[in-house]
Amino acid sequence: MEIKIARKAGFCFGVKRAIDITFNLADEHKEGLCTYGPLIHNPQVVEELERRGVGAVEDLKAPHIRTIIIRTHGVSPRVYAETSKMGYNVIDATCPFVKKAQNFAQILKNEGYQVVIVGDRHHPEVQGLIGFAGGSAVVISDAEQLPELKKKVGIIVQTTQSFDTFKKVVDSVISACREVKIYNTICDFTAQRVKETKELAKTVDLMVIVGGKNSANTNQLVHLSREVCARVHHIETAKELKKAWFKGVKKAGITGGASTPQWIIDDVVKKIREISARR
Ligand code: SF4
Repeated sequence: MEIKIARKAGFCFGVKRAIDITFNLADEHKEGLCTYGPLIHNPQVVEELERRGVGAVEDLKAPHIRTIIIRTHGVSPRVYAETSKMGYNVIDATCPFVKKAQNFAQILKNEGYQVVIVGDRHHPEVQGLIGFAGGSAVVISDAEQLPELKKKVGIIVQTTQSFDTFKKVVDSVISACREVKIYNTICDFTAQRVKETKELAKTVDLMVIVGGKNSANTNQLVHLSREVCARVHHIETAKELKKAWFKGVKKAGITGGASTPQWIIDDVVKKIREISARR
């Protein structure tokens, strides 16, 4: 069996930066170091951080917090205000691309635009963006469900959204509103990974996508792969691989989400090679 591994699989720039910041701090701090929510959407990395004494907190009033790390997905201005009120040492690991989207949200709000955020309203990045975009902001994930909008609308997009969804919402908004200002805030790493995954999935009999089941960008890779490849499996670790999946497979493709560590991808590749050798 031929095994093709995506070149862009694994940590993106923003996740690697947050991981480096946090692991370095974990070595220095003996206690009181926490992340605000899970640092990234990968349960294995979050478990490793817990082993090193860095827990994820949702409640900013938790008594043991001394230093708090802001996750890659960013937070709303309200959270910054609360951390400062509590007197914590704040380390901001928000990805610079997310920061850029937050800045555009704030600029649009200040210029009097109603901000439309294209994305998943439950995702922490979008929750943070809502805080920068002001009270009239709306979140849209589907162009078919466009709410009534004001005359002046500014559009931004969750950094890991698909360009197709973004474009469909933009098309609907420009048909409905008189003045529209658009910032494409999809990050380059996401765009490249999506392109590479689509191309890879078209050329193989089976795709294995490695990454957190709670990771939006990993789920997007699964969804896109399923559009062009009949056999697609989403796993978090090599333990989930099943020999039966590879029956009759001549070419297998492997990729990973932006928050998937290289060691997990290496484990998966190793196990697939073993399955291939035993066939
Ligand atoms: S996917 Fe893009 S925006 Fe998200 S953390 Fe990675 S580099 Fe930053």
